[in-house]
Amino acid sequence: MSNLKVTLYKELELKISTQVEGISFDPLIFKYLDLGGRYQEDIHICFEHAYETHAGIKFPVGFLSPHGLKFNLRWDRRSSYSLILEKGTYHLAHHGEPIFPVEFLDRPEYYAEKTSDGTNMANIAVYAREGALAVAYSNECALKEKDHDCKFCNINATKDTYGDVEGIGWKYPKQVGETVAAAYKNGARHLTITGGFVAERREVEYYLDVADAIKEHTGLEDFNGTACVGAPHDLSIIDKYKEAGYRTIATNIEIWDKNIFKALCPGKELQCGGWEHWVKALEYEVEVFGRGRVRSNIVAGLEPKDSTLEGVEYLASKGVIATATSWNPNPGSALEGHRSPEPAWHYDLFKKIAAIYRKYGFTYEQIYDCTANPTSIYQDIYRIEDERLPVFKAKVA
Ligand code: SF4
Repeated sequence: MSNLKVTLYKELELKISTQVEGISFDPLIFKYLDLGGRYQEDIHICFEHAYETHAGIKFPVGFLSPHGLKFNLRWDRRSSYSLILEKGTYHLAHHGEPIFPVEFLDRPEYYAEKTSDGTNMANIAVYAREGALAVAYSNECALKEKDHDCKFCNINATKDTYGDVEGIGWKYPKQVGETVAAAYKNGARHLTITGGFVAERREVEYYLDVADAIKEHTGLEDFNGTACVGAPHDLSIIDKYKEAGYRTIATNIEIWDKNIFKALCPGKELQCGGWEHWVKALEYEVEVFGRGRVRSNIVAGLEPKDSTLEGVEYLASKGVIATATSWNPNPGSALEGHRSPEPAWHYDLFKKIAAIYRKYGFTYEQIYDCTANPTSIYQDIYRIEDERLPVFKAKVA
């Protein structure tokens, strides 16, 4: 392995550690940062990822490591990792000792624009980096009404904390169409439509209207969209998303172990047909959308690693790209105060998942097209192995 790849893997390990353990900082250090001007601010679309809430105080969305990996910023004042400001330069530090200087992520141009009804486009579609957008049409989940929301999820608490302060609410199809058109003009090329469940599962009507609005405003028939949806009772509804023009679809199973799923996802179990139905829906989605065009996420750390890997492998064998995101026990979720497994546990899991993707022939582009987070660890592994990062070109030049 080249020295550059060894260095990148070291940075990747750090990225995982700071995702799992968070980063401590005094919010006042951002006082002189051009946040919301040159640099992209964090906007809450579905979940608060910081360990504590910080309503009214803006944080940068993330930063670049010296060799070009994108780190997100998860605030946790208990962490041994920190961001410090020394002589005008921000550094990632460990136990107070600087590791490397960081460069915060640029703000996309469309964040400064407004829709025709005067809404900030930044509040309609969040820029997830690498040309990918995320639209959370609804910032709440109707499963809460019966106390059936997933135990690791803080979507409703996040809405309660930030909805008014950040001006985040329901997004209308025209607003989404205009925002996507503006972002695509600036180079964006993928979007995910997601959100919590709405009452009576009326999501499909909304997704179809949004697809029409995006096509109208961008002029694109294939706008490279992912519809992130719950498993519908009537599986034929899945055909409608495909007909509407979504290139990919995502249905998140969250947990592979059936019994843990039952305990931690009571709404998906009691109101949406249960674990077997979710798996059936994913298999049907592959029939409609094709292999490598369906995604399902598992929250990593809620069940034994072998169970998650069994799920990723089973789903991959059926043509589903099963992703895993490190579980962060966040404020407002029923599991607030619990601990995620250690960073090394997550790193090992991600390496094994990337190997499963290779085994089943999933390409970088397929993973990009069906996931909402283009800077995930397994995509970083592809970027390092296939030498896709700009730093490799710089080396050749
Ligand atoms: S279905 Fe579960 S994970 Fe999704 S928004 Fe609702 S409570 Fe959260």
